[in-house]
Amino acid sequence: MKIDQTQPAQTQPAQTQPDPSLRHSDNSVPLDAIIIGAGFSGMYQLYCLRERLGMRARVLEAGHGVGGTWFWNRYPGARCDSESHSYMYYFSKDLIDEWEWSERYPQQPEILRYLNHVADRFHLRDDIQLDTRVQSARFDAHQQLWVVTTQQGAVFTARFLITAVGCLSSANIPNMPGLDSFGGNWFHTGQWPHEGVDFSGQRVGVIGTGSTGIQAIPVIAEQAAHLTVFQRTANYSIPARNAPLTPEFKQYAKQNSDEIRYTMNSNTNAHPFRIADRRAAQTEEADRQSIYEAAWKKGGLQFRATFDDLLLDEAANATAANFIREKILATVADPVKAEILSTIDHPFAAKRPPIDSFYFETYNRTNVDLIDLRATPIERITERGVQTSAGEVELDILVFATGFDAMTGSLLKIQIEGKNGRTLQEEWRAGPRTYLGLQTPGFPNLFTITGPGSPSVLCNLPPAIEQHVNWITDCIDHLRRENLNLIEANEDAANDWVEEVNAAANATLLAKVKHSWYLGANVPGKPQVFMPYAGGFARYIDICNRVTANHYEGFTRSR
Ligand code: NAP
Repeated sequence: MKIDQTQPAQTQPAQTQPDPSLRHSDNSVPLDAIIIGAGFSGMYQLYCLRERLGMRARVLEAGHGVGGTWFWNRYPGARCDSESHSYMYYFSKDLIDEWEWSERYPQQPEILRYLNHVADRFHLRDDIQLDTRVQSARFDAHQQLWVVTTQQGAVFTARFLITAVGCLSSANIPNMPGLDSFGGNWFHTGQWPHEGVDFSGQRVGVIGTGSTGIQAIPVIAEQAAHLTVFQRTANYSIPARNAPLTPEFKQYAKQNSDEIRYTMNSNTNAHPFRIADRRAAQTEEADRQSIYEAAWKKGGLQFRATFDDLLLDEAANATAANFIREKILATVADPVKAEILSTIDHPFAAKRPPIDSFYFETYNRTNVDLIDLRATPIERITERGVQTSAGEVELDILVFATGFDAMTGSLLKIQIEGKNGRTLQEEWRAGPRTYLGLQTPGFPNLFTITGPGSPSVLCNLPPAIEQHVNWITDCIDHLRRENLNLIEANEDAANDWVEEVNAAANATLLAKVKHSWYLGANVPGKPQVFMPYAGGFARYIDICNRVTANHYEGFTRSR
């Protein structure tokens, strides 16, 4: 039995409630822009178009509140893996100065409060329509307008269509036989009930040990009578060492915001720290161990930045991987569990590395079991629980921490039809093909914020979002000043960019992992193409700036 999934399924029939989109508008007058999604990216895009360019823009948001990812992902333990002082907007000094984060890594409710504060502070709600899911968008070549239809049947037109739908917002719920027969309740972490889930006294199962599962498992274990973790692929994880922020740090972050912003925009991952300029492969064993030990004590994604060859050289990577394996073995008391958790089949950080709060320690609790799905796969879900090849595990609650149809999932759920009547689904049948992750040939005036082909998920996302939104805003401003109506990526430019994206991935160990969501391998039937641009954020910014300076090279602009 599945209960109260607050996010309406895309396939649901049109709702019969009054159409909220009618609240706002005279829909007959075309808008300058429609933005889909009111998360970090959609809200900043609205701010830029309205405040910088004085345009009429409207955000259409499926949720009942703003916040995007942070509106939906309310699972226990949900918090950000980027440090709070970097996981925020940097476009407004006043905003930086007035907002106070409480912890090194902010929890979901605090991030959601922040995004609501931004919506209020900049009066963004005036132009955001909640409870409005976009169903389709069609480019009308004659009028040179996008015609956007909502699930409730309202129709809008706009010169520009900007998707701000998030990279990780389309839930991946595995098609497991028997799920309908399950007598307990089941949930996906990305569609968590707003009223929460009471685990007390319950027998709980969690499927998935990615970043989400690793955050949720320790918290659920504390509440549940019993927890069974179903692990398919063992994962590395670095302790987050989360802690309240000191007054000194808060002051430092505000006083040095320009420098922090500069650091984020001039490095590989848009985090507020640099990758050390040294090679693991060329460092003495004893020195290397003490560098890893210090990074382990400090905690966080900085562990990945200890050496600059970790993602380039398998031997170098193995030194980090072995260090973490030793830590797992030293932490987990039960040798069988320790073996299952530390037998990891991919290089460290070649899949997105999680950080945690007492994840491996959780397996020392007497109420936590671990099942190795590689040895004993799930056969089906039964009325009473999960049937693996080794037997049935009885459960009251089953949690799917099974990730997302990443980067393309949310875009392809919308029927987007370009100028030649071809849909994005058709264009991307063999995998996403974009120019800079910003545009797809055949879809004039459609921009995809943090779309596939941009650094996006390989980055701390807020700086990546600000860079994309600034680029799009400058581009629209340029068109307006030049009295141009249309911009569209050229075929050649997109083909070259796809090659560039592949080459950048192939130069790293990221492309070597064949079962990662970066490649779409977690969703059956999805074309396996490395989606994010792995050439580094700073390099990507340079490329985008060069394109602008070279009169929007690779794009066709027209009246
Ligand atoms: P994920 O990384 O895709 O992990 C999904 C987990 O579910 C994996 O362990 C996967 O196993 C398992 N799984 C999927 N399908 C399965 C099946 N049919 N049977 C058994 N196991 C299955 O998803 P996620 O943990 O939600 O994280 C996704 C991304 O979201 C992260 O990589 C990160 O970028 C972002 N995220 C960020 C934060 C943050 O910053 N706060 C927190 C959470 C997530 P396999 O590995 O074998 O496929």
